Amino acid sequence: MGTPIYVGQTNDLPERILSRFVKCEKEAAGKRTDGIERRIASLLHSGFVASYQVLDYQLTHLTSLISETNWARKCWNSGYHLANRAELQNAGGPPIGRGDVLRSWMLKFSLTEAIADDVRISIACEACSAALPIPLTKISELEKPAITISELGRVWRSEECTFCTIVGKRRVRVWVE
Ligand SMILES: [Zn+2]
Repeated sequence: MGTPIYVGQTNDLPERILSRFVKCEKEAAGKRTDGIERRIASLLHSGFVASYQVLDYQLTHLTSLISETNWARKCWNSGYHLANRAELQNAGGPPIGRGDVLRSWMLKFSLTEAIADDVRISIACEACSAALPIPLTKISELEKPAITISELGRVWRSEECTFCTIVGKRRVRVWVE
């Protein structure tokens, strides 16, 4: 193993490697700050092609994100300066667990992924404080792979509250236990 420069997670490794290779020049040019694209591009300029190593396999999206984060933190702890900029991955520290995962991660999950990781959601109204737990398994099969929690939240936001009928005050709450 060489010097780690970045830890990532993907469900399509060949595609990720190819797109990093093909797009790094263009993406690095548009960015002012350090990042994985700039690292890969400057290595190429020096005559090095970054290599990839699979560190871990996880069956679900959330467990993969936790593993990615913990590998990044481990590298920082060992003194490597990673290009990871995401919260929890941009510095070292103790390993994180399910209780530490970020809302922003789960908002990007499809409903199928959310079900696999037992992510819970509810609709909460900021006007009347009513909260309604939503059983994800009850949502139509057709929508599950296609729609994300964030998109579901956007739809709910535009609808009126079932309890107080005020429009635009419903928010999605998302958490894991
Ligand atoms: Zn309400």
